[in-house]
Amino acid sequence: MALFVQKDTLASYMKVVQPEAGKGSVASYIPALQQADPDAFGCAVHQGKEKAEAGDTGIRFTLQSVAKVISLALALMDRGREEVFSRVGMEPSGNPFHSIQALEKEKPAKPLNPMINAGALVVADMLQEKRPDTAADRFVGLIQQITANPDVDICAETAVSERNHSNLNRALCYFLKSHNVLENEVEEVLNTYINLCSVKVNSCDLARIGSVLGADGRDPETGEYLIPSWTAEMVTTFMVTCGMYDASGSFAINAGIPCKSGVSGALLGSLPDGTGIGVYSPPLDSHGNSAAGTRLLERLSSDFQLSIFSGR
Ligand code: GLN
Repeated sequence: MALFVQKDTLASYMKVVQPEAGKGSVASYIPALQQADPDAFGCAVHQGKEKAEAGDTGIRFTLQSVAKVISLALALMDRGREEVFSRVGMEPSGNPFHSIQALEKEKPAKPLNPMINAGALVVADMLQEKRPDTAADRFVGLIQQITANPDVDICAETAVSERNHSNLNRALCYFLKSHNVLENEVEEVLNTYINLCSVKVNSCDLARIGSVLGADGRDPETGEYLIPSWTAEMVTTFMVTCGMYDASGSFAINAGIPCKSGVSGALLGSLPDGTGIGVYSPPLDSHGNSAAGTRLLERLSSDFQLSIFSGR
């Protein structure tokens, strides 16, 4: 199957949307992220062995919230659907990703979904419970397998930087702990969560993750299942309903691509025909999503009818 776009066309779309980056700002609440080059822009599109890559696809950046997709997959593989969703919900949140507001309303406390910080902290707790090997090692191992890139690893500098500026996530953890939602200690859960967010990849790695998720969890070369198909289906569904936080609704209308964003400026897109899209552009819009990256996906989707709702 031919890719929907080739390198030169992709580069021309990137040129058109690049000015959007100027309207956003690079995340500063984690100081290490502030060092990112606001003009960096890379996009990779993979489908099986077919690849189109343009711009700064070699630049490495941390997953940040894109990690929530893979940590959910791992928790589902470890514990099964019933247990995971007894502790974290399935509903979109109209609030920002670090909001504590909705948690206060639920009795007993249950984060609305695994794509917001409160939900991902509970997922991190589930990953580390009673396992002899560390959750972060298993997480990195799975990403290395999916990306076929043994160099993927945790960026210690970003992890330390986030740990020193994590009072909001720490507050979420204490709230969860006080309602007996966390089984492990607050600092342990926070450390696990931060380590997962600090895994470093490039846009090509992201495209490969999207490609595997879109191909029912199968390795593009060998066809071997890296993630069970029911898990891939579930996490890509969350990417549609919750992946772009409180902009998930408008992004579903404007692009219709299952997608997950991270505050590093990362975007992971995944289509059911096994096309994966990885974008990196650090300046963020007011929802915490890459400004130019979001616009790029919207433009590509509308011109190449990529929406999963388009009935192609
Ligand atoms: N590590 C970041 C945080 O917890 C991830 C947030 C994001 O990418 N939206 O704040």
